[in-house]
Amino acid sequence: MEKGSFYVGTENLQSPIVRFAALDKLLALGRANSLWPMTFGLACCAIEMMATGASRFDLDRFGAGVFRPAPRQSDVMIVAGTISKKMAPAIATLYDQMPEPKWVVAMGNCAISGGPFVFEGQYGIVEGADKLLPVDVYIPGCPPRPEALIEGLLKLEEKITGSRRFPRVEPEKA
Ligand code: SF4
Repeated sequence: MEKGSFYVGTENLQSPIVRFAALDKLLALGRANSLWPMTFGLACCAIEMMATGASRFDLDRFGAGVFRPAPRQSDVMIVAGTISKKMAPAIATLYDQMPEPKWVVAMGNCAISGGPFVFEGQYGIVEGADKLLPVDVYIPGCPPRPEALIEGLLKLEEKITGSRRFPRVEPEKA
């Protein structure tokens, strides 16, 4: 970890002494099908995130439409927008307040790498959420459409359960 950085990743859950494979699978299935994102947006990408939760795109179909107003009730942080250096410590604190297990989605080019605000001499922007947090899924776009956010959440589900539930992607035949 870079000295003086805002990195606050807490992927430090102790490995259990005894594992129950069936229980682990059941827990993973439950977690993947009830992702609760935090109500939290930073810039223009957040508008697309709001649209994803609204009736047209209906995030509730995937169990991820329950945006919670408090970090202590959330297990997914969708970093949607530009991360200013002024805002970074607050984002780190919010992440710290989320209970384990928790996941981070970097939505949009700003959250991935600083987006259009990266230029020589810039001093106000953190160039990517992964400078602060352990990011699980990256969704490119400026801004990404709601379908892209849904795809990102399906990717996250896949990461949690180890399998893709919908739609099953088959490799293209030559
Ligand atoms: S990626 Fe584009 S749309 Fe998203 S916050 Fe940055 S400038 Fe706005």
